[in-house]
This record gives sequence, C-alpha cells and structure tokens, in this order.
Amino acid sequence: MRLRKENRMTVRTGITGYVGQEKKYLIGTYSRLPIAFVKGKGLYLWDSRGRRYLDFTAGLGVAGLGHSHPAVVEAVQRQAARLLHMSNYFYMPGQIKLAEALSRHSFGGKCFFANSGTEAVEGAIKLARKYGRRFLGGDSHEIIAAKRGFHGRTLGSLAASGQPEKQRDFGPLPKGFRHVSLNRLDELKGAFSAKTCAVLLETVQGEGGVYPCERRYLQGVEALCKERGALLILDEVQTGMGRTGHLFSYQNYDVSPDVITLAKGLGNGVPIGAIIATEAVAQAMEAGDHGSTFGGGPLACAAGLATLDALLSDGVLENCVKVGDYFKRELKSLKGKSDLVAEVRGLGLMLGLELKSPLAAGIVEQMLAEGIVINNIGQKTLRFLPPLTVGQADVAEVIEALEKVLGRAAKGD
Ligand SMILES: *Cc1c(COP(=O)(O)O)cnc(C)c1O
Repeated sequence: MRLRKENRMTVRTGITGYVGQEKKYLIGTYSRLPIAFVKGKGLYLWDSRGRRYLDFTAGLGVAGLGHSHPAVVEAVQRQAARLLHMSNYFYMPGQIKLAEALSRHSFGGKCFFANSGTEAVEGAIKLARKYGRRFLGGDSHEIIAAKRGFHGRTLGSLAASGQPEKQRDFGPLPKGFRHVSLNRLDELKGAFSAKTCAVLLETVQGEGGVYPCERRYLQGVEALCKERGALLILDEVQTGMGRTGHLFSYQNYDVSPDVITLAKGLGNGVPIGAIIATEAVAQAMEAGDHGSTFGGGPLACAAGLATLDALLSDGVLENCVKVGDYFKRELKSLKGKSDLVAEVRGLGLMLGLELKSPLAAGIVEQMLAEGIVINNIGQKTLRFLPPLTVGQADVAEVIEALEKVLGRAAKGD
C-alpha cells in the first residue's frame, strides 16, 4: 500500500519534486545526484522512473553480496518476525554467534558491536586509551594516525581523521591524535612518544583517495608497535568483509593487528559496526566502560551472520581477487588510451583512478547517463566499489563506457 502511494507521488512530482522537498525538509549535509533509486537486485538498481543501472558503488562499499541478497533478506525477515530488538542487559544468542564466527575467521579475538563505522572507531579509541592507561602506564593515550586517513564523522573519529578540511568548523575536537604521512616509516617512528598507546591506519585509505599501505610499510608499523608496546589498530570499515580479496584486508599483508574495526560490508545493507580485539587487549575493558542500546541487536546480527556465511561459501572472495585483478589491468590499459588518466590504485575490488584534470564529478554524471553508477572522491579521483559478485563482462561494460566518456571529456564536451 505504502509503496504504491510513493510511486504515485514519484509519477506526479518526479525528481524535481524530490529536489524541492529535500531542500525544504532535510539539513543540507549531502550534495546529491539527481536520481532516486527505489529498487535493487544484485548488481542492478532501478530509479523512480524505472530505468536500470549497473551499480559500481554498492551503496558505498556496503552491499558486497549485491543488493537485497536473498540469504540476507531471508535472515532479516525471519529475525524481524521473531524478535526485532533486545537490550544488552540480557544474553544475546545472535550476537554471540556472530562474534564467534568473526573471531574464528580473524585472529581469534573478542568483539564489541556498534551500529556504524564511526561508532566502531570511537569504541576502538576508547579501548586503546583504556589499554594504554591500564597496561602501558604513565599517561599513554596518544594515537598516531595518517594524513588523508578517514575514520568517521563523530568527534573522536573526526579528530582521528587526517583531513583538516572536514574538521575545520567543528572544534574543539578531542586531543591526543598525531598525523603522519602514509608509507613513511621514519616519520611514524619520529611521532612515537612515551604517551603513545596506538597506531590507527586504514590498510587502503578509502575516502582519502584509494591509497594502499605498502606491504613493507605495514609490516614495519607492526614491528614498531610491538617494540614500543603500542597497539596496531586497523580501520577495516571499508576494506573489511572481502572488499580486498581476503575476508579482512590485513590478511593481504601478513600482519597481525591488535584491533580491527568493521562496518560497511558487515550487514550487506543492515547497519552494524564491530570491533575485534585480541584477548589481551579486550581485557582492558570492564563492565560499564562502553555500551550501545542498539549495538549487536538481533536484527543486525542476523544480517551479519547471513552476510558472513554467504561471503565465505559462494566463492565470493575468489571472484573478488580474479575480477579485481582484471578490472585493475583494464583501468591501467585506459592510461594508454586516454591522456586524462594519471594513475590507477587499489586492492581487490576497491579501486581508484586518478585523473590529471579536475573532471571527476562530470564524469560520474556522464556515467550515470550511460546507466552506470560510480563514485568520485574530490574532483580528481574516480572510485569503484562494485559488489564482490561482479563478473568480468560487467567490468568490460564499465570500461567501455568509461573509455567513451573519457574520450568525450578529453575533447572538452
Ligand atoms: C566509511 C568509513 C568510516 C565511517 O563509517 P560510517 O558508517 O559512515 O560512520 C570509518 N572508517 C572508514 C575507513 C570508512 O571508510
């Protein structure tokens, strides 16, 4: 009934209606593209006019299994009918199941559940500070993070992010963060002090422009953290849940972090965030130290468990590696064909193409006109985060469209 009413409104007002209503009723924190998607299935999205699009953003790295994946939908429907919510005052069977599975497939740690990426990072910051004060002594509370890094929009995560332009008007921010250039071990070494309790990094910087950590760098960071007693926290909110070809991105690097944070892909569209911490680190926290009304609720955990099961059982990770390699090669081959392409970066199905000119937003709009959804970071980088189930033929379709659009852009139209 409700859906039909919405459709009627869409027909009457169309996208221009949404633009006006959005301006009237929503705080203007987003600059939106002039499309309203109302349906999704697998790799495809449909807009309010019924036009179909190939989605190479997956709701920004969320729907790793594709939109409205049947196993996740079924798990959510079943759990919603049984029990939607329960408070953490009681034992939560679904939460325990998901924690056990995440622990078994990572480094054998313990979990805390939140509702988003920024919340997972907030929890990790608190955990690191508590660990520092209890086990490292002195006043160990400082966290070293990376310039260009992104960890979320709430105040702690924002302070941890190395993006001054996002912080500017929102001070005072929590203190105790230092920022260093990525992939420069000497700089990191110089930033350590007696107060350092942790290093916080993304294995591949996402919102910062798709910049991977180099293997030797991350291994060096791990060794340095061990030597100084500091925790290695990897923010896998974007890189986790198979995005880079392993379930967790740190597994590409042969390192073993003390803490990781997860969110985007964990519920395949249902909001859920998580921290996994080694047993030794987890014991820093005591009852009452942290909590969340909704975190680890039955619905989100059912979605998380169904997502994890499907990711591990259907050859999805193998597909991500294979198609990711193909995609990267094809993007690199565009470099030979278009003068506009500066560089191709990324890991697995988290890829970025840097342009020589600030044309990225226009290219995203032209790709939409071709029926393909991609994303841009600033005016110079195109980002690709397709569902991990994408095939080579889908990639070929995107490459062909991109070549056409880049060709037009080079001619200035
Ligand atoms: C998206 C992202 C976040 C923030 O996640 P939200 O769910 O939007 O709060 C944090 N860290 C990384 C690495 C991200 O990519």
